[in-house]
Amino acid sequence: MSKILLLNPPGDKTYLRDSYCSKVSKAAYLTPPIDLLVISGYLHPKHQITVLDAMAQKHSAGQALDRIRDISPEYIISLFGQASLKNDLDFFALLKKELPVAKLLVTGDAGFDDTEKLLTSNPCLDAVLLDYSSPTWLGYLDGQRAGIADIAYVQNGVYNVPRSGPSKEYSIGIPRHELFPYKKYRMPFARKLPYAGVVTDFGCPFKCDFCLIGQMPYKLRPVPEVIDELLYLKKLGIKYFSFGDQTFGADRERTERMLSEMTSNQINLPWGCFARADLLTEDGLLAMKRAGCELLMIGVESGDQEMLDRYHKNITIDNIRRAFALCQKHGIRTVATFILGLPGETEASFQKTMDFALELDPDLASFNVPVAKPLTPLTAEARSRGWIKGGGQDQSSSSNIFDGETAGFRIEEWRRRAIHKFYLRPGFILKRLKGISNLTELKINLAEAVALLKGQP
Ligand code: SF4
Repeated sequence: MSKILLLNPPGDKTYLRDSYCSKVSKAAYLTPPIDLLVISGYLHPKHQITVLDAMAQKHSAGQALDRIRDISPEYIISLFGQASLKNDLDFFALLKKELPVAKLLVTGDAGFDDTEKLLTSNPCLDAVLLDYSSPTWLGYLDGQRAGIADIAYVQNGVYNVPRSGPSKEYSIGIPRHELFPYKKYRMPFARKLPYAGVVTDFGCPFKCDFCLIGQMPYKLRPVPEVIDELLYLKKLGIKYFSFGDQTFGADRERTERMLSEMTSNQINLPWGCFARADLLTEDGLLAMKRAGCELLMIGVESGDQEMLDRYHKNITIDNIRRAFALCQKHGIRTVATFILGLPGETEASFQKTMDFALELDPDLASFNVPVAKPLTPLTAEARSRGWIKGGGQDQSSSSNIFDGETAGFRIEEWRRRAIHKFYLRPGFILKRLKGISNLTELKINLAEAVALLKGQP
């Protein structure tokens, strides 16, 4: 049995680093670190697990180091984000100085950008997990160093990077939510707390050009295991949860089975999920609603069909229009996410996106900027054309890393205009106020409004 610390490192900002999609948190978001939850399922009960979520605990680097010194782990498995790259590497260097014997394994989007160079130029990192949902890398914790798949490390000067073959399923047992500070996690629309995150799959079967998740192998957790986890969350006192799947319901037959088992097992908890507009049917949406679904987060990305096609979103404006109309018809709340400033964006395409955002009238709109995610076709194209100008990798910031075609120079202005036009409508404000049903929601909405006024949603 090894002594293992699962770590969400401290930061100079509130970072969300999980699910290979790091960003700076918007005011009301502090989501559970899904990757570490999955890993906790794998480790239990074979290893002694401690969790330090320094983001949720609001620990400074010094406080986190003190805690880690006390824990004295043999292995540290830490989140590692592109959006927090410098912050994380600085902390890892301090950590290695304090605990030189502990092995430091990292997981996150930052681990995929030239992994061999990352490992050789940062001796504080012992290994990078290339697929935390794969059980193969667990051998590393038992001292194996030869032929282990899905984990990258340098051994005697040789870079190890074998990958396991495709697999349709992965089984992690029950993630140990009780070890995490779950009462501190929150998100807009979680109208009751405590709130938890649950995954039923890994990766995504689609391949949008800007998205790292689509480059991951797509695999599913067994339905009975998901149901057991939901029953356990109920016992823990969880009142609301989100499915962290990047595209909930991609496998229709299995989703129907899972929803029906949620109903027959009387899970009876409200929940939200990420969904693709083209996968939504009226019957499917009604089955989700019967199982407790209250909120869909839908990637709209752009109101310009040419931009959707260019980045292989494989979706039509009409698919999206229909999905939002269905949600409104059946009282499911919606979050629409957009990407402003992809290479090729013009004033005309931006205007189409703005008009579309107002037409769809979601309950919340998230206007993001593109980032250069490793392994993606967008990043490969941008690198080959010299479009990457360096700088931040935070999709919720107002600066654009791409300097190609028309994208780079308008981004700050576009984002500001989008936020003002969408959020400062009297009708929108009234709708949000009417939708608040309790004190928890009121507090979360106030935090969001403060962030908006500060210009950082
Ligand atoms: S559908 Fe969503 S998660 Fe899947 S590749 Fe596209 S953007 Fe990524």
